[in-house]
Amino acid sequence: MEQKSTHATLDKIISLCKRKGFVFQTAEIYGGLNGVYDFGHLGFLLRENIKQAWKKSIENDLGEIYTLEGSLLGVHRMWEASGHVENFHDPMIDCKNCKKRFRADDDSMDINKCCPDCGIKNWTEVRNFNLMFKTEVGAVSDGSAYAYLRPETAQTIFINFKNMMTTNRAKLPFGVAQIGKSFRNEITPKQFLFRLREFEQMELEWFCKEETSMDMFNFWLEKRREFYKNIGLNMDKIRFHAHSKEELAHYSVCCTDIEYQFPFGFKELEGIAHRGTFDLTQHSKFSGKDLAVFDEETKTSSTPVVVETSVGVDRLFLTVLFDAYYEDEMDGETRVVLKLDPTIAPIKLAIFPLTKKLEEPAHNLFKEIRKSIPHIQFDVTGSIGKRYRRQDEIGTPFCITYDFESEVDKAVTIRDRDTGKQERVAIAEILSYLTQHNITK
Ligand code: ATP
Repeated sequence: MEQKSTHATLDKIISLCKRKGFVFQTAEIYGGLNGVYDFGHLGFLLRENIKQAWKKSIENDLGEIYTLEGSLLGVHRMWEASGHVENFHDPMIDCKNCKKRFRADDDSMDINKCCPDCGIKNWTEVRNFNLMFKTEVGAVSDGSAYAYLRPETAQTIFINFKNMMTTNRAKLPFGVAQIGKSFRNEITPKQFLFRLREFEQMELEWFCKEETSMDMFNFWLEKRREFYKNIGLNMDKIRFHAHSKEELAHYSVCCTDIEYQFPFGFKELEGIAHRGTFDLTQHSKFSGKDLAVFDEETKTSSTPVVVETSVGVDRLFLTVLFDAYYEDEMDGETRVVLKLDPTIAPIKLAIFPLTKKLEEPAHNLFKEIRKSIPHIQFDVTGSIGKRYRRQDEIGTPFCITYDFESEVDKAVTIRDRDTGKQERVAIAEILSYLTQHNITK
């Protein structure tokens, strides 16, 4: 097998996602909505597997992890406390000629030059644009009932800090994890799933004592590196970018971005931040509720420090697709293959009868294996080669062919997606073969 370079471009990834039903432009039949997508069957399964892997990756020996599902709508005061009402904005500029809007600080933007869309230089002033979606709650529009769709999941964790600590009888250090939707009215959503207006985040807020907080920060940096390795990303394309003093948010003690090398450059995939006591202190101040913790040993109260890890499901989804996309040659044909790690592949296995005559016994085998591994496919259409190609494109790690010999030797041929290697395996041994190759539920 000849291994070619990946050739993964954004256009190829978008086309594959649409063709195979991973991702659809939302409301496509009505012309779409910029920066918002729907996920089809395979997309849903891939997202679920990514989330499962994330949940597993934050388990640790230092402290418990509790989970929260916070509301999407949040009150004005809470977003004032967090700083989002005042500071969560991007600089925006409009072209007065073609009315196109741009982010003034975009890498590809130079406001000293002409508009990249119409070629005329006639800019408005740069203005700040708040990225939160604002709405009114209830029937009275008197300004007192403003709410916002959350732009991050983290704040619902901070405002529930005391609830979570007391109801779970939690001891520091401990973490509160949340996977959920966030909304940002991005000025220019772009690069497909990279910058969206509606997206999902996986965030962990780790509450600890001040004196251990730098060790905790370093601990989480390593844990996150391990996660990307375990889901099979090419670690040569991952780099850690520690923020300089100038880059740091005013409340952050230190912050490191995990960046991935996309075809459009190294970009942030995940942020890991030592946020000091900023969040809990702010919410104490604005709500009037004391969020400090009393330490029985020292008989003193103090506000815990927060170490945050935050990654977008959609951005990671796009990353694993870029990372797994290859065009290579197999059996004299060029194929597109997603070399997804078996733990996150949406379909784990496909079963084919060699010919239609063997459909019944092959389908019986399919039904049997599906009891243990739910997400598998059965395919009788086209040549075996064509059926392999279909599975390669969606990243199915193994294909099983049931042939005439299977009736006699009670064995099947299992073919490996990445190497094309085929092995004869006894039907009774299929499940243990799959488990050995990381294929489980
Ligand atoms: P960026 O600089 O790329 O806008 P950010 O620093 O604003 O990102 P955070 O607020 O730290 O991002 O959000 C944490 C994570 O959430 C990001 O690392 C990214 O994976 C994801 N994320 C943030 N904004 C978006 C978006 N508009 N679309 C998709 N994912 C996003």
